[in-house]
Amino acid sequence: MKRTSTIAAGLVLGIAAVCAGEGRAAFAVGTASAAPGGKATGVLEIPAGVDAGLSIPVAVVQGVRPGPVLALVAGAHGTEYASIIAIEKLIQKLDPAQVSGTVILVPLVNTPSFEQKVPHVNPVDGKSMNRFYPGKSDGTQTERALFAITRQIVERCDYLIDFHGGDLDEDLRPYAYWLKTGNEKQDAISREMVLAFGLATILIATDRPKDPSASRYLDSTASTRGKPTITVEAGHAGTVETDDVAALVDGSLSVMRYLKMLPGEPTAVDHPVWIESVKTVSSEATGIFYPLVARGTLVAEGMKVGYVTDYVGRKVFEARAPATGVVLYVCAVPSMRKGETVANIGVVAPSPPEPK
Ligand SMILES: [Zn+2]
Repeated sequence: MKRTSTIAAGLVLGIAAVCAGEGRAAFAVGTASAAPGGKATGVLEIPAGVDAGLSIPVAVVQGVRPGPVLALVAGAHGTEYASIIAIEKLIQKLDPAQVSGTVILVPLVNTPSFEQKVPHVNPVDGKSMNRFYPGKSDGTQTERALFAITRQIVERCDYLIDFHGGDLDEDLRPYAYWLKTGNEKQDAISREMVLAFGLATILIATDRPKDPSASRYLDSTASTRGKPTITVEAGHAGTVETDDVAALVDGSLSVMRYLKMLPGEPTAVDHPVWIESVKTVSSEATGIFYPLVARGTLVAEGMKVGYVTDYVGRKVFEARAPATGVVLYVCAVPSMRKGETVANIGVVAPSPPEPK
């Protein structure tokens, strides 16, 4: 008896869900077009221009119930693997029957970087795919791709999360960025989003561009267009560790719960470490780098964090922490050129920031 009534209740719920989706249009990004209650994959096609064209993989999950549009974008740096794998897992995992609203998922913006194993830039034009927003319709491949992402994804979403991690040469501890824009209402929402994501180290970013036409980064492209946005980083030095991928997947699901796009309560981080500024240590010499600290280490101002020798072993540079703080990342490989980053030290904020 009980079983029958459960099935009947399930049928009623199913019919209600189908009815709820009726009347709403399909949501398409590039060739990925999802009807209400559907999931679709496809590509955002960037036609050839001054250089070759590019196909950016994309997925759209449209829930059975209406709700906001959330964009999850990874792989601007195509060798920050943990973040790319996390979005690929979310594409498989998200069930439209559970979702309210629409999720746009881009697992890998920079396929040339991924395929050729080139860190930091798009090897086609030598540009970082997170430095040229909002892009240009007649620019090089990177600029045209970012122009399409701005138009087809950023401008159509209500919330955005940009996914990164330590690149091939970066030994990085997981952290998130909270963009403090000065727009109190928007900042209050993004603060809740970053807490819901759950990474326990949060950088307060107050220095992002304010001009939407010169927004430079993906997160500031969204935030200058009024969309609450966070950036998250996990993974390091070419690895795909279970904990890093799980943190990014679970964090995304928790933010969706905060936004009422999934049932249940978010699991927000309690008392995170807020980072008020980041101090960069750059190498004053080219040569072989030897780290003396690991990612996540607490260092005191003046403490040695690594050194550089020439190619026959003579010490030519000693890197010292410019401030007391947390090693957010440290160079993961021996290759070191003059002017490049040895480590980033995060200075801990004395008290939690408020969204004003
Ligand atoms: Zn990155």
